[in-house]
Order: sequence, then C-alpha cells, then structure tokens
Amino acid sequence: MTRRISIFGATGSVGTSTLDLIGRDDDAWSVVALTAHSDVPALAAAARAHSAEVAVIGQEALYADLKEALSGSGIEVEAGAEALVDVARLDVDWTMAAIVGTAGLEPTLAALERGNSVALANKESLVSAGGLMMEAVRASGATLLPVDSEHNAIFQCLAGSRLEDVRRITLTASGGPFREFTRDQMAAVTPAQAVKHPNWSMGAKISIDSATMMNKGLELIEADHLFPIGLDNIDILVHPQSVIHSLVEYRDHSTLAQLGSPDMRIPIAHALAWPKRMATPCQPLDLVTIGRLDFEAPDQVRFPGLRLAREAARAGGGHPATLNAANEVAVAAFLSGRIGFLDIATIVEEVLAGYSAPKPRDIAGILEADGQAREAASRIVERVQA
Ligand code: NDP
Ligand code: MG
Repeated sequence: MTRRISIFGATGSVGTSTLDLIGRDDDAWSVVALTAHSDVPALAAAARAHSAEVAVIGQEALYADLKEALSGSGIEVEAGAEALVDVARLDVDWTMAAIVGTAGLEPTLAALERGNSVALANKESLVSAGGLMMEAVRASGATLLPVDSEHNAIFQCLAGSRLEDVRRITLTASGGPFREFTRDQMAAVTPAQAVKHPNWSMGAKISIDSATMMNKGLELIEADHLFPIGLDNIDILVHPQSVIHSLVEYRDHSTLAQLGSPDMRIPIAHALAWPKRMATPCQPLDLVTIGRLDFEAPDQVRFPGLRLAREAARAGGGHPATLNAANEVAVAAFLSGRIGFLDIATIVEEVLAGYSAPKPRDIAGILEADGQAREAASRIVERVQA
C-alpha cells in the first residue's frame, strides 16, 4: 500500500537522507509536500524527482523563483512560514520533521496535532516546547517516532516495554572533534574545524552543537520528554566510536543497547518502516574491524553546555526554550566568524542567568521566551565582538 508522506527540511542532511531511502522504493511512497528555507534549486529538483504534490519555500521572497523553477511540472508552489504550517496540516500518513531550529516548531506541532506518524529529527522544537508537543501527541493520538539516533536507539531498546520497568537511560556521545582538546586549544578553533565531525556527516548547526556538546544537552531534554523516567535517571556516556547509539537499563539490571554504523539512514529507515523493517544501503556493522569500543565520563568543565542544559531542564518553564534560542544565535554568530568557540556556552549561560518569567502556557509564551533570548544573545554577541 502506498503511504502518503511529507518531508519538512527536505534539502537538509536528514531530509536528503530520507529522500534517498524513499527513492529506492518509489512505489511504496507518494510524496505530498517537500519544504526548504532558501535552497530553491535543490527543492525544485527534489520535488520534480519525487513528483511531489506541493513544494514550500520558507523565505516568502523566493516564491517567484520556485514558481519558475517548477513551471510546467504541475507541482503546487507555496511560500512563507504560514504556508509551512498549513501544509503540515495536510492529510498524510507520515511526516518527517527535519527543519533545523525553532523554525521547525510550528510546522512540527501542526503535524502532531493532525495526528498519524511524525518522525522527529527537529530536536530544538521538543527542547523548547516539549510539554506542549507531548500534549498534542496525546490529544491527537499521533505516533511520535524519534529519529535522533540516540532516541531512536532508546525507542528500539524499549520495544514496547513499560517505562516503570526502566531504571536508567544512557545517551551515548561521540565527544565531537574536540573531545581531547583543552579549553585553551578550544579557544582558537575555527568554524571549519568545528563542523568536521569525526563520525557523522550532518548540517552545520548540529555539527557545532556536537563540538560544544550542547547537542547532548539538547538530547538530554529531548529524552526527558520522550521517555519521562526522571532527569536524574538519564545519563550521558562518551563513546568515541559512535557504534552504540544508546542504552536502556531495566530494573532487573538487564541492559539493552542498539548498535549500528553511524549513518542516519538507519534510524530514518526505522522510522519510515515502523513497525516493520526495511532494507537500507548502509554499511553493516563489522565489529571485528572496529575492534574495540571505548567509554569515558563526560567532562562538564570543558563542555559547559552539558551542565547548562541539565540546569535548564531542571528549572523547566521557559528555561529550555531560552537555552535553545540563545544557543541558536550563538552558533550562528560563531559560524559567521563573529565570536569564538568558547563564547557560545558563555553567551548561553549569561542569557539563562538573566531569564526570569512565569512558565509559558502556550506556544505564544514559548515563542516570546525564544524571542527575548534571541535579543539578549544578539546583544551579547555585539558586545563580545566589539
Ligand atoms: P540542515 O541544516 O542540513 O538542513 C536544515 C533543513 O531545514 C534544510 O532543508 C533547510 O532549508 C531547512 N530550514 C533551515 N532554516 C529554516 C527556516 N527558518 N524555515 C524553514 N526551513 C528551514 O540540518 P540537518 O538535516 O542536519 O538537521 C535537521 C534537524 O535534524 C535538526 O534539528 C538537527 O538537530 C536534527 N538532527 C540531525 C541529524 C543529522 O545527522 N544531520 C542527526 C540528528 C538530529 P535550506 O536548505 O533551504 O536552507
Ligand atoms: Mg543525536
């Protein structure tokens, strides 16, 4: 049976991996919507290649360009942030939420409110508005399928078990490209060095988050929403080979782990085929060649993002949205050469220290905390840069 699917963030790293998988069995899927932010040529090419029904470009000013790029194709063209939300409400069986950052929040929430299966890569939306998103899941009966490799691993290790029987969840972390760097060495790293992840090929933002290890902090908050066993029962373990993607320990002290090559197409395929399985072109795991698996405790002094995320999760309310938004601004400033690598966590910490507001009750409240954090972070960027 053909399943109707939409991909938000279709031109990104997760989006193109998803298209790669569905392109291998075109009869199984029927593409409804594909979206991008500014990459008109890539979006138009993907929409034509997969005979999408509608293509949406986030930047409104690019509507005419996309219209022209798709002329004669019969593919409907939409543009702007509101169009992204409208298209997320279309009737589909499966949605990939792979926009990067808070920009993905409203479309992802709209897809969850509509129901059916939503594969979630856009972790920032869950960090900022996890409570509201999980409420939407309960209300609509949507199936939320985690795509982030760690959370997908946990989902697989849980395999329908009761959360009451889980004693501990361990999120593994590669440690990123600067795992062995001192703070002094980190002070001098360039964006080009920081985006080079040792094991995974990913978009720029998440690559920087991996280098600061804020990614693991965001994933801690993500896990706290997806698998609510209590923050203190979720650990982080550095595992440089990225072979074990995470572990679940049950109360009988039996521990289950999910292993695989570091290729996002494996968790994406799991979410695409769930509850069945599908073949992938990925490298099978060859443990003899890998030879050994190493583990070490995370260092919260060299990587303060881990501590900041745990503190923000504990504080709750608008703190996680503040952490996330300040981090997005700081990462963008680092990528454009305006601040140093170590300034990222310093800016996040300063913005969090200045945050105090009542708990946001709705999406407008979350977006307000997000907006204020962005303004505060931008002011600090200007100061640091001066
Ligand atoms: P990329 O930067 O590669 O792609 C981002 C996608 O989102 C692109 O399609 C981009 O369009 C679109 N986009 C960017 N900004 C906006 C905006 N303001 N409005 C609408 N669309 C926008 O990111 P990744 O694929 O690496 O990551 C996507 C999400 O998945 C992130 O939340 C990340 O944390 C998560 N994730 C990624 C993993 C990976 O391996 N890459 C692993 C686990 C999680 P355009 O191309 O036009 O800019
Ligand atoms: Mg991950």
